[in-house]
Amino acid sequence: NNLARKILIAGNWKMNGLSGQLEEVRKISEGCSATMGEVDILVCPPATLLRTVRDAAHSDLLVGAQNCHAKEKGAHTGDISAEMLRDAGASHVIVGHSERRADHSECCATVRSKLVAAHRAGLVAIVCIGETLEEREAGEALRVLESQLENSLHDDVTAGNTIIAYEPIWAIGTGKTASAEDVAEVHSHLRRRLVERFGQETGTSLRLLYGGSVQPTNAASLLSVADVDGALVGGASLKAQDFLAICEAAR
Ligand code: PGA
Repeated sequence: NNLARKILIAGNWKMNGLSGQLEEVRKISEGCSATMGEVDILVCPPATLLRTVRDAAHSDLLVGAQNCHAKEKGAHTGDISAEMLRDAGASHVIVGHSERRADHSECCATVRSKLVAAHRAGLVAIVCIGETLEEREAGEALRVLESQLENSLHDDVTAGNTIIAYEPIWAIGTGKTASAEDVAEVHSHLRRRLVERFGQETGTSLRLLYGGSVQPTNAASLLSVADVDGALVGGASLKAQDFLAICEAAR
């Protein structure tokens, strides 16, 4: 891996977590203090817990959100702006997760507007892309991913403000992971496209995460793939022991 691209292990809690259940975060915070110099570690709790988790966590543990609205404020009942997330203690935000693309019909243009919002608020965005099983079986995966990458990003993307996460939809929450060969093929393809669009320096410095059933048992082999600069972890990020084992595998 490129030395400039520090490995990032990001936990996406999705719609899980109550204020009475912060023991896991304390364990993560304590358990990863030795790892944090070598590996960036991020937890993304639900928005209701951002402030609580930020206050409970070691200051080097990164805390992020799972979604934001494109606008800064206004008449958008139930929505939360990137500025509000930052105010609540977030430094990162996930945009375009496949569950949001599916559950809330978010298209790439929506994701791009959220990316703009994240950057406006000074948040680092993790932009998710991923193909369905049908698309993969039809030999369309690279084409679909390329199109999502193209249309979800805007031109002012830098290695400092944006991270890309490749998450094959069929691997999310299913216990199935893409093979190391498939991940290598996708990541090197994405890398080439990023260099073409953003130039050599930015293109080779942007971090590319893999997500989809990352577990303590498969983390080391996935993280050893060229151009895999970290992992976006769902289910296994809810248990401190598993999440810490994945962080350890990244060292
Ligand atoms: P998973 O989720 O690790 O539970 O498969 C990954 C994600 O959706 O980010």
